[in-house]
Amino acid sequence: MKRRRRVYEGKAKILFEGPEPGTLVQFFKDDATAFNKRKQDVIDGKGVLNNRISEHIFLNLNRMGIPTHFIRRLNMREQLVREVEIIPLEVVVRNIAAGSLSKRLGIEEGTVLPRSIIEFHYKKDELDDPLVSEEHVTAFGWANPQEIDDIMALAIRVNDFLSGLFMGVGIQLVDFKIECGRLWEGDLMRIVVADEISPDSCRLWDSTSKDKMDKDRFRQDMGGLLEAYQEVARRLGILVDQERPRGTGPVLVK
Ligand code: UDP
Repeated sequence: MKRRRRVYEGKAKILFEGPEPGTLVQFFKDDATAFNKRKQDVIDGKGVLNNRISEHIFLNLNRMGIPTHFIRRLNMREQLVREVEIIPLEVVVRNIAAGSLSKRLGIEEGTVLPRSIIEFHYKKDELDDPLVSEEHVTAFGWANPQEIDDIMALAIRVNDFLSGLFMGVGIQLVDFKIECGRLWEGDLMRIVVADEISPDSCRLWDSTSKDKMDKDRFRQDMGGLLEAYQEVARRLGILVDQERPRGTGPVLVK
């Protein structure tokens, strides 16, 4: 079999050269990392679930006219995507206080924010992805003012869509992170959503019990990560209920 050229390897994914120019194959690994790799583990099956969940979300974003890099899923662990020039920002949208916002500003986790807040973090592992302002983004040339406007408009549309999607299945979208890229079509360029959207990059709480159904289970050593991701997939209608194990047929009620 011909070996594919590895274009990039990140913490949870590998990008390979795609079958046609301008395409890449995005491979989802089972690796889980947190606190900038200071905590690491392998969780069998996580990559398969994230591939399916991210596919479901990106397909629907595309259908809604929200541009993304996603073309189609290829198999259990891989999807075909358009090659984009990644903007070195993690764009975080928050609806409810949690994580670094709670820590930084002393706002109790679970507090509903007065409005959705968009943050930019500079993508730089060595610096632990620091929070930056629009001033930094334009001064250092990571994106220009028009691109920042486009990124914020995309982030708001994704937030509106995802909040509704999850609310409909009894899940609160607390916050999430997206990455954006420049997609070149001839001389024209547009900003699209890239990377992945999965329970690795979102905070998802059960609407009633407030149980965490995301990577915080790993960050906080709570266990049950795979089961939680499976439940997210099941509620989104991606996974059908597992068949009943053999041997546990109908039980006679006396
Ligand atoms: N996030 C992410 N990758 C990162 C950092 C954060 O996907 O490298 C997501 C995280 O899962 C959460 C949101 O972005 O849904 C906000 O994360 P936060 O700033 O609170 O940082 P954390 O508490 O994860 O350090």
